[in-house]
Amino acid sequence: MLQNKVRDLLNQQVNKEFYSAYLYLDFSNYYESRGLNGFANWYKVQAQEERDHAMLFYQYLHNNNETVTLEAINKPDQTFTCDMDPLKAGLEHEEYVTALINEIYGAAYEAKDFRTMQFLDWFVKEQGEEETNAHDLIAKMELFGSDPKSLYMLNSELAARVYTAPSLVL
Ligand code: MG
Repeated sequence: MLQNKVRDLLNQQVNKEFYSAYLYLDFSNYYESRGLNGFANWYKVQAQEERDHAMLFYQYLHNNNETVTLEAINKPDQTFTCDMDPLKAGLEHEEYVTALINEIYGAAYEAKDFRTMQFLDWFVKEQGEEETNAHDLIAKMELFGSDPKSLYMLNSELAARVYTAPSLVL
């Protein structure tokens, strides 16, 4: 049995991760319409990863004999005026997700719920990687985004990203 606060935060995170998937699919959607298929691919893969994250929280709750409540997923409603906008929104979103993971970790720590802390360790590390990736994309766009040939090459680089299943298996 998980402590109620820990359980509720874990359940909320299922929704937050599905929202992340939806948000990144919308980024992909934007870049498709711009003809930047590499950027679109990068965020489509990112959306797949976020769905995996949601399923890890879902499965962790079930593995601990908890029921899961699936709430409505918010509509991604940001409008983008340039190709940099989604990248900056992505960094901001990952910083928000890091804060959410830290909040669950804090609640698990308070409850001396070492199992949940161990489960969350993977996500703590993952969030570090997500923020690094988001920073890198912004840096590359700042360096190369204003030159069409460089943008073409950056787009080709991002087109090469392939989906891999998460290293955490429950
Ligand atoms: Mg995630």
